[in-house]
Amino acid sequence: MHFPSLHDMWEAVFSVLQTMTVVDVLDIILLSYVIYYFSKLIRETRAGQLLKGIAFLVVVYVLGKFVQLKAIPFILERLFDIGLLAILIVFQPEVRRTVEKLGHSQFGLKALGLVGPSDEVSARWAYAIEEICDACVELSSTCTGALIVIEQQTHLGEQIENGTILNASPSKELFGNIFYPKTPLHDGAVIMRDGMILAAACFLPKPQKEELINKKLGSRHRAAIGMSENSDAIVIVVSEETGQISVAENGALTRNFTREDLHHLLTERLLPAPSENKLRLPRHRGKEKRTKDEKSA
Ligand code: ATP
Ligand code: MG
Repeated sequence: MHFPSLHDMWEAVFSVLQTMTVVDVLDIILLSYVIYYFSKLIRETRAGQLLKGIAFLVVVYVLGKFVQLKAIPFILERLFDIGLLAILIVFQPEVRRTVEKLGHSQFGLKALGLVGPSDEVSARWAYAIEEICDACVELSSTCTGALIVIEQQTHLGEQIENGTILNASPSKELFGNIFYPKTPLHDGAVIMRDGMILAAACFLPKPQKEELINKKLGSRHRAAIGMSENSDAIVIVVSEETGQISVAENGALTRNFTREDLHHLLTERLLPAPSENKLRLPRHRGKEKRTKDEKSA
């Protein structure tokens, strides 16, 4: 068997490089970006686990073929034949959500600072973040249950429709009033859009796979997980039982937030950070203090 020498390989690479045009370079950059983008989307869903499983089966298949096994490669070939259809059926919710996210996505342009909220909306969010954090601390100290949904790219028309429209400027006092027990709007979630309280008493969707959720979590926390699975919304929960502040994002609930943690997370998600600050800030400060109840572990 002839193994190419390092020199041969370099020659081959060099000849390819010589014939490369600007269009080829553009092609590679775009393809890399598409692969990076899809891997990022997939990592956020259960499909990530599925891909690992498929990769494992492919390795088993290749090894089986290599050592000339008969049964395993035969069975795996049959499995791969029906695999795509089976994946589409079993993972229909994930496929739907991924495609929906793609539709709402700004393709990472926000991270590059090319698109983002207007200055007016950012100013409203900056004010709202302070009020939300103050309100959560207060609600937490009085063990008042609360559910606050922060809408991002995915519009939550369906949930807003079933609530009561307020379109009010957020304030610690207003949050306190809304979630005060036995008042007409305390039951359900507040939905915020563009730094305003758009609606209250909204009913949120259930999580897709309730049986996978920690049995100790009640319906408020489950609704938060469900809403974050169905959209890119950030959902804040204050527990009536423990006063704990939790946040659900992408179907995962992170618990035990302090005011500082919450402020940091909301600022990072909602305000266009100056790029040099963004590089310096750790993404999840205080995360080690929290426990993560991942629905789709
Ligand atoms: P807590 O820790 O505050 O007790 P929990 O997760 O144990 O929260 P429950 O005690 O069942 O949840 O909370 C019930 C309240 O949660 C309801 O009164 C309602 O206000 C809110 N809630 C429950 N499900 C939903 C939903 N699908 N959409 C909006 N709000 C909901
Ligand atoms: Mg409860």
